Amino acid sequence: MLQRTLKESFTLKGIGLHSGRAAAVTARPAVPNTGILFVRTDLPGTPSVKAKVEHVVNTQLATTLGDGSCRVSTVEHLLSAFLAFGVDNAVVEVDGPEIPILDGSAREFARAILSVGTESLLQYRRVIQVLRRVEVKLDGKWAVIEPSNGFEVHASIDWDHPLIGFQEFVYEQGRTEPEDILDCRTFGMLEDVEGLRRMGLALGGSLDNAIVLDRAAVLNPGGLRSADEFVRHKVLDAMGDLALAGMPLQGRVRLHRSGHDLHSKLLAALLSDPRNYEVRELSGADSEAQGAEAPASLALAYS
Ligand SMILES: [Zn+2]
Repeated sequence: MLQRTLKESFTLKGIGLHSGRAAAVTARPAVPNTGILFVRTDLPGTPSVKAKVEHVVNTQLATTLGDGSCRVSTVEHLLSAFLAFGVDNAVVEVDGPEIPILDGSAREFARAILSVGTESLLQYRRVIQVLRRVEVKLDGKWAVIEPSNGFEVHASIDWDHPLIGFQEFVYEQGRTEPEDILDCRTFGMLEDVEGLRRMGLALGGSLDNAIVLDRAAVLNPGGLRSADEFVRHKVLDAMGDLALAGMPLQGRVRLHRSGHDLHSKLLAALLSDPRNYEVRELSGADSEAQGAEAPASLALAYS
């Protein structure tokens, strides 16, 4: 299986969820082995940061990458869309500190990727094959990764709310339609918004870019996109955070009540010991198991 990149560039504009600042993000095709590279075009010298777990500098409510003077927040939804559609390489320019939140899901990123298309590059895809089970736990939350021939994310959440409660969802690369997770929005409690704003966070948050709940109901006029939109968004987040491995993972990930912090701790724990994994080049014989090509039905779903 060959590495892929975008066929053409695309640009999306919107505000940052936490900063409230407007920004434009442009994703461009890139050469093999670039991975995903974020570039701050608004800063002197246009500094960049690679989408790698060692550059995670903050995981409060969103994943922030930093390297030298370059900081970019809320990278996870775009990274999730790249992973779901098998985009290994891209240069992502942004003219502000945060990737726009758009509608709170990765739907617009997915549509943009499908509209420009992807193409293969003359270099085999490399993957991180998980060889040993790795687990991290924190305050009743846990995250596990274990050997598997494909990439799977099994997530569950348990929220004390009449509309959420216990929910679970399984994503299997090549079997689950990417839209089943990429369309699902981030969510939060109305009672938490005040506190977040005092901390200078969620300044751009509104019913246009998040599901907002009070103690009894969803406040968004359009309601939910699916009854389990909450746990599906957790899968979306997890895939974006796990994309910070720098290449696709071959392993089964199981998550309970996890968040950005636990996702990056799991990845760091996996990569901390070379006996846990091996980097493998996918030759032609592996291509069926990978299944990263978007099926034709998807292009229709997004048109
Ligand atoms: Zn999210």
